[in-house]
Amino acid sequence: MHGQGLPEVAYLALNPGPPLWYDRRMELARRVARIGESATLEVSRRAKALKAQGEEVLDLSAGEPDFASPRVAVEAARQALAQGKTKYTDGRGIPELRRALAQRFAGEYGAPWSEDQVQITTGGKMSLFELFEALVDRGGRVVMPSPYWVSFPEQVRFAGGEPVMVPMRSETGFAIEAQPLIDAIDEKTRAVLVNSPGNPTGGVIAAEELRRVAEACRDRGIVLIADETYERLVYGTASHASVAALAAEMAETVILVGSFSKTYAMTGWRIGYVLGPSPLLKALTKIQSHSTSNPTTFAMYGALAALAGAEEEVRANLSEFAARRTLLVERLGQLTGVTCASPDGAFYAFPDVSAHFRPGRSDSNGLAKYLLEEARVAVVPGAAFGSPNHIRLSFACSRETLTRALDRMAEALSG
Ligand code: GLU
Repeated sequence: MHGQGLPEVAYLALNPGPPLWYDRRMELARRVARIGESATLEVSRRAKALKAQGEEVLDLSAGEPDFASPRVAVEAARQALAQGKTKYTDGRGIPELRRALAQRFAGEYGAPWSEDQVQITTGGKMSLFELFEALVDRGGRVVMPSPYWVSFPEQVRFAGGEPVMVPMRSETGFAIEAQPLIDAIDEKTRAVLVNSPGNPTGGVIAAEELRRVAEACRDRGIVLIADETYERLVYGTASHASVAALAAEMAETVILVGSFSKTYAMTGWRIGYVLGPSPLLKALTKIQSHSTSNPTTFAMYGALAALAGAEEEVRANLSEFAARRTLLVERLGQLTGVTCASPDGAFYAFPDVSAHFRPGRSDSNGLAKYLLEEARVAVVPGAAFGSPNHIRLSFACSRETLTRALDRMAEALSG
């Protein structure tokens, strides 16, 4: 009998409870199954967890400069907070920063972008995310060089599109070549994406190669997205070719993405930007208006100050990066069987470590796991970047960390 004096069956008939569909298990949207967690962030999360347990991990995983953010940026953000600059701004970001970026690219490269053709985003990663949402319909293709940064194909897939990876040659240090990219363009291609200097290889594209890709895109009515996050980080005789130099000529089809994270060691501030043709910027503004809204207000004031007054610190950091690069490439060269091109840019070395594959660590995932477990050195497996024979080592950490990490690796790989 039920509490109300009714037999169970009668009670249930009168009180049928929630409809059956209430009981369904939570189902995730199919688009989530198309992507995995970012390998760079995953490895760095694992390294941090080990550190929290008291382990001494030498972390060469995430590309995050160990330098302090510029003093002027910190001071400007502090002042902005004190002055109550803690409210919403224009969804595209504060006009002062948009204007300063437009002026920078006009002054340096003669780019025609006005402040209305600039959107500030919560990091370069968000600029790219919004771009793929704006440009790629179901089945739309985005052509990119491989190795590629982990988030490029995943963001394209998330938008419903198909990444098309075009292999570059390790013999040339993964320099980005125009012809194979152009050959990969077909009727479904919506964009070509070039990241130079590139993550994870440090490969760069020469100015004439960039022009060839840009012209091919223009002639076919598709866009060229240039991710120039590492623009200031070039070494030796290498130089950075910016799409901004082509914008006056090909205003409708070139797009520039940039970030304050690497140049200014402002990773956690989450400030990036995108410049490009007006109709596209209007689409990005719509997307941002329904997602993040403006990036953090006082962080944008910090970025504005960095842009105007942090050159001395940027140069000091650059020369330290150059010294670290020399050290790391030299030490990698001393590891038996390991081959590593000297990166022209960014702050990663990307050695071929396949000579050290063994049962139980038979690919880059296994080897990276082995190095973390045996040597407490965190690196990112090349497989995450489409290159299973390599691992990525970031030299955005101190020379001491690099030296000790390479000592440990030499020992772990000596067997
Ligand atoms: N872009 C850096 C990297 O590749 C930071 C982490 C991330 O966003 O992937 O390590």
